[in-house]
Amino acid sequence: LSFADYHVSDEIKRALAVLKYETPTEVQREVIPLALEDQDLVVKAQTGSGKTASFGIPVTEKVEWEEKKPQALILTPTRELAVQVREDITNIGRFKRIKAVALYGKEPFAKQKEELKQKTHVVVGTPGRVMDHIERETLALDQIKYLIIDEADEMLNKGFIDEVEAIIKKLPSNRVSMVFSATLPKDVENLCHEYMKEPVHIEI
Ligand code: AMP
Repeated sequence: LSFADYHVSDEIKRALAVLKYETPTEVQREVIPLALEDQDLVVKAQTGSGKTASFGIPVTEKVEWEEKKPQALILTPTRELAVQVREDITNIGRFKRIKAVALYGKEPFAKQKEELKQKTHVVVGTPGRVMDHIERETLALDQIKYLIIDEADEMLNKGFIDEVEAIIKKLPSNRVSMVFSATLPKDVENLCHEYMKEPVHIEI
C-alpha cells in the first residue's frame, strides 16, 4: 500500500512526495481511511509513529480552501508541539495553499490576532491561549468541523482539563473529533466518552 492508493487529492499526494513519505506508517494505515469517512477516533499511539500526518493528511484534504474561517482546531499540550504540528500541516497542505496558525502563550497576543484576521484553515494551539482568543473573540469557532486533541494524556497531566472542556463546549456539535494519546488513563477515557460520537478505538 502506498499513499497513491488513498482517496486524497493530487495536491496532497504531491506534497507527500516532496516530504518523501512513500508508504503510510501503521497509525496512518489505521487512521486515514476512517478519518476521511468522518469517523470519531480515539487513537493510542506514541510520538514517532507518524501520528501527526495521520490526522494532518485527512484534515488538509477535507478543509475547503474558499472558507475564510477556521475549519479545524488542533489542541496540543505544549508550544513546541503546536509549532511542530503547524509546520507539518503547512507542509502537507502546501500545494493546496493551506494556512495554519499556531496559538500559544509567551508570544504577543496581538501578532496572533493579526494572523487570525487573514483566511485561516487550521488553528493549532495550547488550551490557555486558544481560550484567550475565544474569549476576546479573535478566533471564530462556528465553522470548526474537526477537533483534534493531541497528546491528550499530557494535556490532562498538565492540568488543562478544565480549559479543554470549556473549549469543546463552545464547538459546533456537528464536528468530527479525534483524540491521540500515548496512554489512555481513566480521565482521558471519560473525556472521550463525554464528548465524542461512538468513537472507534485504535491501538498501535
Ligand atoms: P510523528 O510521530 O508525527 O512525530 O512523526 C515522526 C516522524 O516521522 C516525523 O519526522 C515525520 O516527518 C515522519 N513521517 C511521518 N509519516 C511518515 C511516512 N509515511 N514516511 C516517512 N516518514 C514519515
